[in-house]
Amino acid sequence: MAYSNQDRSSSAARRATVFLILGVIIGLLSPRLLAQIGIATSAACNRNVQQINQAIERWHFEKGTWPDAGLSDIGTDPRYFPEGLPRCPVNGCPYLTDPATHRVVPHDHANQGGRRRW
Ligand SMILES: [Zn+2]
Repeated sequence: MAYSNQDRSSSAARRATVFLILGVIIGLLSPRLLAQIGIATSAACNRNVQQINQAIERWHFEKGTWPDAGLSDIGTDPRYFPEGLPRCPVNGCPYLTDPATHRVVPHDHANQGGRRRW
């Protein structure tokens, strides 16, 4: 079947229109989708912090001492973290504890690795 030049150009125009519409839709949805992903990974970080703080309390109850600030002892004990000590799912940094409070030190996700506040 032979196509005329007019058929080819109108088909190309339709394809361009479809791609344009898809581009607009993706452009509109991407920031929202990325924001939702960011919220989900921040929530996962908060759950990790809660889990680590609970494990620290359990360690202290069972052993009578606190784990070291870098969590190298509790983090390598499979009874506390069978899959290993988690890292921040947002920026991949390791969790550390404050030696005075024995709690995970809050860190800033906006600073990508800075250790300040949430
Ligand atoms: Zn984090």
